[in-house]
Amino acid sequence: MPRHKRNCHPCQNKILLKELLGSPVIKLENISSYVCRNRYDSPNQPLSEHALANALDVSGFVLASGEHITVLDSWPKASPPLPLQNPIRVTSIGGWAEAILLVMNPKSEFVKKIHDDACGTFETVLGPEANEAHKNHFHLDMKERRSAFCQ
Ligand SMILES: [Zn+2]
Repeated sequence: MPRHKRNCHPCQNKILLKELLGSPVIKLENISSYVCRNRYDSPNQPLSEHALANALDVSGFVLASGEHITVLDSWPKASPPLPLQNPIRVTSIGGWAEAILLVMNPKSEFVKKIHDDACGTFETVLGPEANEAHKNHFHLDMKERRSAFCQ
């Protein structure tokens, strides 16, 4: 039986998400659900959770306002490196590091929050930062694991 993890209050999350975009989500766009295949369609990989009808791939969201938000277009992007007058020292032994800034706007905050909140519900969450295969969607599955897998 899948465990419900962490403290997650769906109504509170719904209100926060509506405040981010000014309109509630009325539809999820699912680009894959049940498909009889191995992971990444590779003969060398184990059976995908999609083959067990235990996974969804969500690529976008439609708001009541009619606006369409896709994971591909709205996932936070790293900004180009900025010249820093006063670089930030991030480690005591690693020296100086370039600051990596994520470009955030309400849509990017929304998709990032959806991803992060999904990690509290699903056993596996893979998004654009997991790998190239997930650049345009969130893979969500309920495979039982010792600990949740969230990337
Ligand atoms: Zn998937």
